[in-house]
Amino acid sequence: MNRVYNFSAGPSMLPLPVLEKAASEMVCYGESGMSVMEMSHRSPDYEAIIADAESMLRKLMNIPDNYKVLFLQGGASTQFAAVPLNLIGRTGKADYVVSGQFSGKAYKEAQKMGYDVKCVATTKDDNFNHIPAVTKDMIRPDASYVHICFNNTIYGTKYSYIPDTGDIPLVADMSSCILSEPVDVSKFGVIYAGAQKNMAPAGVTVVIVREDLLEYADPKMPTMLEWKIMAENGSMYNTPPCYSIYMLKLVAEWLLSIGGLEEMAKRNKEKADLLYDYLDNQNYYVAPVLDGSRSMMNVTFVTGNADLDKKFASDAAKAGMKNLKGHRSVGGMRASIYNAMPREGVEALVAFMKKFAEENPKA
Ligand SMILES: *Cc1c(COP(=O)(O)O)cnc(C)c1O
Repeated sequence: MNRVYNFSAGPSMLPLPVLEKAASEMVCYGESGMSVMEMSHRSPDYEAIIADAESMLRKLMNIPDNYKVLFLQGGASTQFAAVPLNLIGRTGKADYVVSGQFSGKAYKEAQKMGYDVKCVATTKDDNFNHIPAVTKDMIRPDASYVHICFNNTIYGTKYSYIPDTGDIPLVADMSSCILSEPVDVSKFGVIYAGAQKNMAPAGVTVVIVREDLLEYADPKMPTMLEWKIMAENGSMYNTPPCYSIYMLKLVAEWLLSIGGLEEMAKRNKEKADLLYDYLDNQNYYVAPVLDGSRSMMNVTFVTGNADLDKKFASDAAKAGMKNLKGHRSVGGMRASIYNAMPREGVEALVAFMKKFAEENPKA
């Protein structure tokens, strides 16, 4: 069977050369005589894999030396709790920007723990169709941190700017945009991301944290959630998600081989432009996201008719384009076009959209 164009929001496509390399090393890694899956995480072979994963990620993202890179478990959702547990000790309060479902969950999680948290901006009343303008005067001057979700996977919105929070650390969930374009890490206190959108298979969560922020953990917090302990132990306090980290290394290697994040951003922009240019020049589909907030990774659109939306996703799947159905909470369609989606996949999608519009006139 042929591989399809998989527009899934996550887990999502991985670069074919990465899958092929992993397949070639699946049974026997190098001279080790065993699979990476069977290796002790304390073995020299594995120590080299995790060290390479970290150094390649540092090189790709140009991560300053005063930041730690952690490979954790539990997904981005576990970080919704870990962020307040690690940082609230600075001042006892935290501010949140709610720009979609995941940032809403992060906000609720901090609230649930009984902390003094405040939602300082939200676009909920506009169905999250854009990113709020966040300015310094909205933020409490004694907040421990400000939390944002940089790319809203479900709604297809992304920050086109990095909010200026002054001296207050900015914490960003970058699960669905990390490695899609260069980003100035020094503007953030913490960046975290689940791997399964743009970095690796599910299983590993990357946390990039400025060293001075490792000092505020609640002493009663669970060891597994404490960044400082994970940093002191090179992410090996316990068994790390070994195979996902190995896959992340292969993905990073692939990105470096094509020219790093500048080249990746150029390709991603070309792909996204193809789709948005088409959407902007027809009147069958509606793209709900406002100009200036559009995501390069998740492109959302609707026909305006739930039955046609459903038919679209199922006809597309038959034509070899899978997982175009929008998130169950919002409906419509969503094309996730992460790093691994080739330009040909987006071209095929646009051609399909034109054909579908012609063949399915609205009553
Ligand atoms: C997918 C996603 C999450 C949830 O990630 P898990 O790893 O499943 O916990 C959180 N935030 C964003 C922005 C996401 O895209």
